[in-house]
Amino acid sequence: MRLRNITGSREVIAGSPYVVREEVLEQCPGTWGEIFGNHAPIHIEIGMGKGRFIHTMAKENPAVNYVGIEKYSSVLLRAIQKMQAEELPNLKFIRMDAEEIDRVFGREEVDRIYLNFSDPWPKDRHAKRRLPSRQFLQKYDVILRREGRLEFKTDNRELFDFAVEELEPAGWKAELITYDLHGDETLMQGNVMTEYEEKFSALGNPICKYIIYR
Ligand code: SAM
Repeated sequence: MRLRNITGSREVIAGSPYVVREEVLEQCPGTWGEIFGNHAPIHIEIGMGKGRFIHTMAKENPAVNYVGIEKYSSVLLRAIQKMQAEELPNLKFIRMDAEEIDRVFGREEVDRIYLNFSDPWPKDRHAKRRLPSRQFLQKYDVILRREGRLEFKTDNRELFDFAVEELEPAGWKAELITYDLHGDETLMQGNVMTEYEEKFSALGNPICKYIIYR
């Protein structure tokens, strides 16, 4: 997702109390408890888009601290606007490329990672840019607590098959794999829809999901 450039979005982000400033990101590992002012578990969404999922999750789970990560300012701006409309103390944002994720969180500092409708990068030579690739799983392995879980949802079957194939070589195991999340009443209990999930499930696309651990 890349919205057209919105004039002033960088300035809004730089001045927003909801966004962790780029200049201090390097100092964040090991200090997330101080940033939130408490030591609640930390759940992150990488590639959060306009932030509906993470905003809803933060609202429904006040005892968890959430961090939404998004590469593009114009998209992050929408998530900031949601916070302006409904401020939540347990949600922060970072504008960054997930490539740098292991420079922002300390070893095993994160309790859960969400990837929702990640960009597919269909060309083989771009496989390592896919957020569920083995290269990214290696980074998540560092920041995710040993007992932590990573959840991934997508309607893109090729991307999902790729993601499942990456698990074994990367040393991860599946706790759950479904190729039709919305067709499973039990799994749908507590499911929070993302913007893309709503759009693509409305078109009749089945939604795939896995939950993985190592
Ligand atoms: N998760 C949202 C949803 O399900 O509605 C948005 C999905 S959208 C297809 C993917 C989002 O991930 C885009 O907003 C994109 O800018 C962001 N993204 C892609 N690669 C990223 C990366 N390497 N680091 C941070 N964000 C990334």
